[in-house]
Amino acid sequence: MKILISEYMPESGINRMRKIAEVEYNPDLWRNKQELINKIIDADALVVRNQTIVDQEILDAGKKLKVIGRLGVGLDNINLLAAKQRNVKIVSAKNANSVSVAEYVMAVILTASRPIIQAGEDVKKGNWNRKLFTGNEIYGKTLGLIGTGEIGHRLAKRAIAFGMKVIGYDPYIREFDYPFSETGITKVELAEVLKESDFVSIHVPLTNETRNLLSTKEFNLMKKNAIIINTSRGGIVDESALFKAVESGQIAGAYLDVLENEPVEKDYFLLNSSKITVTPHIAGLTEESQERITNIISDEIMKVLEG
Ligand code: NAD
Repeated sequence: MKILISEYMPESGINRMRKIAEVEYNPDLWRNKQELINKIIDADALVVRNQTIVDQEILDAGKKLKVIGRLGVGLDNINLLAAKQRNVKIVSAKNANSVSVAEYVMAVILTASRPIIQAGEDVKKGNWNRKLFTGNEIYGKTLGLIGTGEIGHRLAKRAIAFGMKVIGYDPYIREFDYPFSETGITKVELAEVLKESDFVSIHVPLTNETRNLLSTKEFNLMKKNAIIINTSRGGIVDESALFKAVESGQIAGAYLDVLENEPVEKDYFLLNSSKITVTPHIAGLTEESQERITNIISDEIMKVLEG
């Protein structure tokens, strides 16, 4: 049996799977579709992250394919219908990096409120500018969640521990699965999230409905001091409209861990704004989450291959 891995996977997971199959590990394979097609022909399993586009053509080529392992959450890079038609099972690691993403958003909220890095750099230049680096408390501020699933709920608990008020918009959430009374989120409509929040954090999947969910009309509802944080998927925030809203002072800034097209070059227009910070899709990437995800996916793949 052959397991093909087309993106980065920690060694521990690769070694586990080597016990039952030949493993071909090529973390850059996602960049070259033709090569992926050539290699998938005799593969029984494919392991991807979010960069490999598993479309109809790839699935057609994977004649022996039984299972696709997604190292993470979010299946928007896989043609699920085509996979289902071919009886290819999809295994993902839901929840395995939710804590990492929630902690990343808390780090962003604190970073946006206290200029610790900037102050430290200034001291290294020989300065002692106390007044220049006055920050803001996050205590008493409002965090607005768009999407209150696994990550949204974990983030809410952490924000509430800091004394923040947390409101959330999620028309599909099932109270049964995620009791709001436990996490302290107040359920509101989208417009209220936008009008009331000092920080708006996005935690919805990318779907036809969520594409460009936040654009000029939505930014116009927001507070001038508001910060948008997107760790969810590029395409949910209209990037051109965001750039205009931030540069015109309609909103204070944005922290984007995900972009419409990843990766981007250094001349990408969003990088020209001093009020926008882009990170390279790292919100879910911690040592702990990688270990967890690797173990779950390698176990699930082995279960499918071993029958
Ligand atoms: P989840 O499925 O537990 O929660 C998503 C929530 O979005 C659900 O409660 C759902 O009801 C809600 N939703 C769906 N459509 C909506 C809409 N139109 N309006 C409002 N709410 C809507 O998922 P999760 O584990 O919390 O992850 C959220 C997203 O975060 C994932 O889809 C993934 O794309 C992204 N993610 C990114 C990273 C990263 O490293 N940046 C890591 C993990 C997950």
